[in-house]
Amino acid sequence: MQLYTGLKIFHYQDKLDSLSQDSSEIKAPIHIRIKPTNLCNHNCSYCVYRNKNMQLGKDMVIKDKIPAKKMDEIVEDCIEMGVKAVTFSGGGEPFCYPYLAKTAQSLVDGGIRIASLTNGGLLKGDAAEVFAKHGTWVRISMDGWDGPSYAKFRSVPREEFSNVIKNIENFKKMGGECFLGVSYIVNRENAEHVFEMGKKLKEIGVDSVKFSACVVSNEGDANNAYHAPIFEKVKEETQQAVEDLADDSFEVFDSYHHLDEEFETKYDWCPYQQILPVIGADLRVYSCQDKAYNLDCGVLGELTDQRFKDFWFNGNDKFFKIKPSRDCNHHCVSNSKNMLIHEYLDADPNHLAFV
Ligand code: SF4
Repeated sequence: MQLYTGLKIFHYQDKLDSLSQDSSEIKAPIHIRIKPTNLCNHNCSYCVYRNKNMQLGKDMVIKDKIPAKKMDEIVEDCIEMGVKAVTFSGGGEPFCYPYLAKTAQSLVDGGIRIASLTNGGLLKGDAAEVFAKHGTWVRISMDGWDGPSYAKFRSVPREEFSNVIKNIENFKKMGGECFLGVSYIVNRENAEHVFEMGKKLKEIGVDSVKFSACVVSNEGDANNAYHAPIFEKVKEETQQAVEDLADDSFEVFDSYHHLDEEFETKYDWCPYQQILPVIGADLRVYSCQDKAYNLDCGVLGELTDQRFKDFWFNGNDKFFKIKPSRDCNHHCVSNSKNMLIHEYLDADPNHLAFV
């Protein structure tokens, strides 16, 4: 079964049919990303939220976190609205959020699937137990291949690499069926270690490794230029990982060689902002993870003085202010999915029967 297919949204036809500006109905988002806190226990050299040259995160305030009461209200609304899934992500490190265990458990009790992105350094204790037992997936971002390289990328003590490895091993022993993946962020310094890390991760019980390209610029061409010297080497390494490591118990996914597809948004409205919006630690709702903490272009609304459900269902004009062909000249993780949806919605009704 495929984990990373971009066709999942086509299992929600009612939602697809409600997306256009002419639709009389607003439906709840299927999936929400919540950034509970902007604090982080690591300090990655390439973190797009802290890189001053990147548009992503440019207005982020590190001390922001969602107050406990507001988080309870958001959880209640998500349950009432029929949201299907919530993923916790950064800004900061979700496991730095003091109310993560309670929030995650409340979502589970309300029938919502949960997942989290994390650096894995704090993947232990009550919050880890909730995710291990009830989570659908947890994905740990990694880059180094040993203590010194990991410490260099993240400005952490050398022991942090073995701490994360130990947390991974212990998480798998907590029981439950949570799928544990690693996103290995490939850059010029670790390109020679791609296969080696895939092998190590399989040996310690990880279920899946996704090789992802380090994003270094808002421009597609500049990213291509950065990755050009290692592109073929990484291809060799990922292919070897697929051939030697992938089996029924271990998935290898090469996202690295698809970075190109995540630039050049050529359409005039964005379907995905109604499917997978982001709630930031600053209590703003953003169109997507690529525009989080962009106050000039990315904010759909604010939750300081209103409930999420009231904001969401109060008119659909807010979903059509961003014109991607004009406003999204940067990385867009949903670009290929948006293009598929536009093609689906643009199909001529008079010709649908001629399948
Ligand atoms: S970056 Fe992509 S997902 Fe975000 S608003 Fe633009 S088109 Fe939509």
